[in-house]
Amino acid sequence: MTDRAIVVRYGELFLKGDNRPFFERTLEQNLRRAIGDLPGARVDRLHGRMLVRASDPAEAVERVRRVFGVTSVSTALLCRAELDAVASAAVACAREAAAARPTGRAVTSQGERPSFKVESRRSDKRFPLPSPEISRRVGAAIVEALGLPVDVHAPDLTVGVEIGTQATFVWSGDLKGPGGLPVGTGGRVLLLLSGGIDSPVAGWLLQKRGCELAAVYFHSFPYTGDKTREKVTDLARRLAKAQRALPLHVVHFTEAQKQLRAAGPGEIAVVLYRRMMVRVAGAIARRDHIGAIATGENIGQVASQTLENIACIEAAADRPVLRPLLTYDKTETMALARQIGTYELSILPYDDCCSLFVPEHPSTRVRREVAEAAEAKLDVAAMADELARTAELVALSGCLTPSAGT
Ligand code: ATP
Ligand code: MG
Repeated sequence: MTDRAIVVRYGELFLKGDNRPFFERTLEQNLRRAIGDLPGARVDRLHGRMLVRASDPAEAVERVRRVFGVTSVSTALLCRAELDAVASAAVACAREAAAARPTGRAVTSQGERPSFKVESRRSDKRFPLPSPEISRRVGAAIVEALGLPVDVHAPDLTVGVEIGTQATFVWSGDLKGPGGLPVGTGGRVLLLLSGGIDSPVAGWLLQKRGCELAAVYFHSFPYTGDKTREKVTDLARRLAKAQRALPLHVVHFTEAQKQLRAAGPGEIAVVLYRRMMVRVAGAIARRDHIGAIATGENIGQVASQTLENIACIEAAADRPVLRPLLTYDKTETMALARQIGTYELSILPYDDCCSLFVPEHPSTRVRREVAEAAEAKLDVAAMADELARTAELVALSGCLTPSAGT
């Protein structure tokens, strides 16, 4: 066993009553999956924290800091629950933290050594000293060994001491996690995933709120080629990293699109395609017991996404349509896409099936009656069921499992 560990903190504010054990259990499982393939991997649930161990702590930190629900992580040194051992671990930790400050800042801008404070938590009441006294004594040891000044109000470094029944450890410095809720605590959502910038970001935001995703992609071969399909699969794979697995349903949409295009005036074609997409997604969701569907739609971004057209599309849905990006500026969405690593994939050139067979100026105000009148020429319910039934399933394994490397 290594003497290093990772302290994982999570938001507690909203954790009340029965939710708490469920939240913690799910987070623990997700952390286990995130590091499961590392030698020496181990996750312990302590009071209000998780302690993660692995023989490669640097790699483990990189992985656990991306797990939803985690607010921050720190590397820690484990030690015996004795004051001397705690003090020397704290000195080692403070020395490392001072050295790890950005180049040129091992001393502060004023040319001083970095100031510090010690924060102690003693949940094992068998330890003979109360927390303030632990902080004082450990602080004195750091002053003596390293000559760092104490500043309890605005320290450059914080050294944490935690003395618990299961483990005693010392940490310094922390890295922010993504926050949110552990994936799996928020139910399942079927994401309409295109090859664009928006829908993968919408999926990521839902995962951040604890939702586990399945995805559906509407493929119009040969108008949208294999490259587009590969790109969507890669995007889905990126989202799968936060889950155990992610089923991607590929719907063969070409014939349906042609029939829809022929059924009404060209100006309403995009809205007819979208109405069919939510119907098919609804059929898949019904079969797979998924409560809601989601899109990357956004108010006013393109002609098909006016409030009127969104209302007309929504009317064809049989369950809630979640739109996490509804109010985002494109620049905000793009920044998030870069941060989560989908942007580079999304901007690869691709064909968009919704731009197939449509005039240059699609209607921004498709009335429901007009859409329904066009659809009355077809059996849209049967078409949707058939498209859902014949969709191809691509089972993507999550990177949170040891076997996943895709
Ligand atoms: P995106 O960047 O996600 O494609 P967008 O701004 O390009 O979004 P549209 O192309 O109008 O917007 O699509 C709106 C939403 O409809 C998408 O975010 C996605 O959820 C869904 N969608 C569009 N085309 C497809 C498709 N071929 N397969 C699955 N979903 C799709
Ligand atoms: Mg698009």
